[in-house]
Amino acid sequence: MADNESSIKTLSGVGDKTASLFAKLGVYTLEDIAEYYPRDYKEYPDTVSVDSLRPGQTAAVKGMITDSLTVTGRPGKKIITCHVSDGTGVLSLTYFNALFLKNILRKGGHYVFYGKVREFKGRLSMEHPEFFPVEEYAGRKGRMLPVYAKTKGLSDKTISKAVDQALSKTAGRHEYLLPEMLESFKLMDMDMAMRQVHFPDNREKAARARKRIAFDELFFFLLEIRASKALINEEGNSHPVNDTKAGKAFVKKLPFDLTKGQQCTIKEIEKDMASDHVMRRIIQGDVGSGKTIVALTAMINAVECGYQAAMMAPTEVLARQHFETIREYFDKYEIHIRVECLTGSAKAKDRARIYEELENGEIGILVGTHAIIQERVEFKDLGLVITDEQHRFGVKQRDFLAGKGRLPHVLVMSATPIPRTLGLIIYGDMDISLIKELPAERLPIKNCVVGPESRDTSYGFIKKEIEKGHQAYVICPMVEESEDLEVCDVVTYTDTLRKRLPGIRIEYLHGRMKPQEKNDIMEAFAAGEIGIIVSTTVIEVGINVPNATVIMIENAERFGLATLHQLRGRVGRGPDQSYCIMINTSESEEARERLDVLNRSNDGFYIASEDLKTRGMGDMLGIRQSGEMNFKMADIFEDADILKIASRLSEDISGRLTADEAEKDPFIKDIYLRFKEKSEKTYIDAL
Ligand code: ADP
Ligand code: MG
Repeated sequence: MADNESSIKTLSGVGDKTASLFAKLGVYTLEDIAEYYPRDYKEYPDTVSVDSLRPGQTAAVKGMITDSLTVTGRPGKKIITCHVSDGTGVLSLTYFNALFLKNILRKGGHYVFYGKVREFKGRLSMEHPEFFPVEEYAGRKGRMLPVYAKTKGLSDKTISKAVDQALSKTAGRHEYLLPEMLESFKLMDMDMAMRQVHFPDNREKAARARKRIAFDELFFFLLEIRASKALINEEGNSHPVNDTKAGKAFVKKLPFDLTKGQQCTIKEIEKDMASDHVMRRIIQGDVGSGKTIVALTAMINAVECGYQAAMMAPTEVLARQHFETIREYFDKYEIHIRVECLTGSAKAKDRARIYEELENGEIGILVGTHAIIQERVEFKDLGLVITDEQHRFGVKQRDFLAGKGRLPHVLVMSATPIPRTLGLIIYGDMDISLIKELPAERLPIKNCVVGPESRDTSYGFIKKEIEKGHQAYVICPMVEESEDLEVCDVVTYTDTLRKRLPGIRIEYLHGRMKPQEKNDIMEAFAAGEIGIIVSTTVIEVGINVPNATVIMIENAERFGLATLHQLRGRVGRGPDQSYCIMINTSESEEARERLDVLNRSNDGFYIASEDLKTRGMGDMLGIRQSGEMNFKMADIFEDADILKIASRLSEDISGRLTADEAEKDPFIKDIYLRFKEKSEKTYIDAL
C-alpha cells in the first residue's frame, strides 16, 4: 500500500511482521503512524505505603521481596506467588504462566510494583502488577505515557517507538496558520501538537495538543463543505420531481398515521425536488423516529417521474435490511418498482445482471453499500440518492456519486442528535429537516444500570421475554479474548450464555465476520429464528427488528453515551415494552454518573448535552465515538468553541483556494496544497 520511502518499514524495529500488525490497525505510512493518536495516557503515581492500600485502588508500592517465588498450579496454568513488604505491611503478588520471573524477582530485591489492589481471602494482593527497579520508576513517575488502541502482538512501547521516529522524520501534519492566528485562536503550534499529543509534558499540554489537531480536522472538513456548497449553488434541477399518485397512495395505505415531523419532512422534500435547484437535505431524527418511510416516499416519487433512486447504507447488513423492508412494503402495497440490492459480496453473475439492468433503466431502486459507488455502476438516469447515517460516507463519496451523470438530489438520514447551532455549521451544505417525535403508541424504553452481580437476574429476565415470544441483544466490547480479562468478548460470552440458557438459539455477530455470515445471522434474527444475538457494536447502526425487546450491554462504562444511545435504539421499535440493561463493571463514580444520564432519559438531544458536561479530562481520549463525522480527534460537541473559529476562517478562505491565489500568497498555498491532497481528485477537479 505504502511506497518505500513513506512506509513504516523504514523505521528501525519495524520489519515485515510488525508492519503486518500495524496494517491491522490501518497504519501503513509514516503519516499514518504519526496520526495514530493515543486513546488515553497512563501516569505512574507516587508510591504509597502498603498499610494505606484499599481494594479496587490502582497504586504503586515500593518494597522488598521477602521470600522466594513459589510455583503452584498445573502445566499451562502455573501460578507464581511471592510477597513484598515495605515495613508497614505485606502484599502478595500473583503472576500466571510467567516462569521466567523466577530469575528476575528474587528474594531481597527492591522494586516498585504497580497494579490494581484486590482482596483475596482477607489479604491484599496484586495480580500481574508491572514492576520496575526503584531507580527506573523514579524516572517514569509523573510522566504521561501514551496508551494506544492495540492489536495482539503490538505493545504501547512498540507503537510509541515507531511514533517517536516518525515524528523525528517530520511525518504528520505541519503548521500552516499564521503566528498571529495561533495567538488569537489560542492554539498550539501544529508541530508541537503532534509531538505533545503522543508524548505530553503534562495534562494541560495534552489537552491543548488535542484541540489543535481537532481544529485541523474541523477546518479542512469545513473547507470541503463550503466547496461542496459552492458547487451546489450553481446547479439547477435536472431531475424535477412532483408528488405522485403512487407516493400518496403509499402513505395512505400504511397501517399507521405518519407523525407530524414525518409529514412535514415529506412536504419539504417534495418542494425541494420540484424546485429550481437540486436537493441537498438531511433528515435528523432520533433512533426509531421513522426516517425510512420518508425516504421511501421520496424514492417512489422520483421513480414515478422517470428517474432511478439509490439508497446507501453503511454496512451490508443494513443494506440488506433496507432492501427487505422496501420489498415487503412494495409487495404488500402493490407498488410496481423493480428494487435490487448490490453489496460487496454479490456474486459476479448477479452483479453483471444488475449493472446491465441499471444501465438500461429496468431497475428503479438500487439499495446497497459503498459498492454502489464503484466505477462500473452506471445508472440510466439517477435522480435521487439517499444515504443512511451519512457520517460513514464522506462528502467526497457523495459528490463522486453525484458526478455520475447529471447531479441527482441527495437526501441524508441521520440519527445523530446535533443541536441546531452546530448542525447549521457542519451541515452547512444542506437544508435540515427535523423529525422531533417518535411514533405515538411507542412505550418509552425502561432502563437500568446494574453491577456484574445482577448478570444472573438479567439472564433470567431475558429468558422470560423470550418465552413471551420476544428477542434480545447482548452487547460486548471486544471480539476475542484479550489480555484484559475483565472485558467480555462475544465469542466466549456466547459459549457461556448457551450453557446458561439452554434451549434458546444464541448466535454471535462481530465486525470480523464475513458479510455473508453477518447477513445470514441478521436475517435469521429478523425472521425470529434466533432468540439472542451476542454482538459487538456492529449492531449499532440502524438495525430494525421491532420484536426485539431487550438489550443488555456489558461493560457499558466502556462506551460513549452516543454509542450507548444508538445501541439502545435497537429496541423500543415496536408496540411492546422494551428494556435496556446496562452492566457497569467499573467502580468509578464518574462512570456511574455518566451511565445515569442514559438511565434518566431516552432523548438523544438531552444525552448529547449531558455528555458534554460529564466528560472530564479522564476520558479525554477515551473509548467513544467521535460522533457524526468520523474524525480521529475532533468532537463537534466538545470542540464547539473551535468549530466556530474554524467555521469563520474557512468562510474567509474558501473563495481563495485556487491555484492562482496559491501562487500569490504562501499562506493560502499551504492550505491549498493540503486541501488538494486531502480531497480526492474527482472532487477538486470539479471546482
Ligand atoms: P429510524 O428513524 O430509526 O430509521 P425506522 O424508519 O427504521 O426508524 O422506523 C422504525 C420503526 O417504526 C419501523 O418498524 C417502522 O415501520 C415504524 N414506524 C415508522 N413510522 C411510524 C409511525 N408513524 N407510526 C408507527 N410506526 C412507525
Ligand atoms: Mg434507520
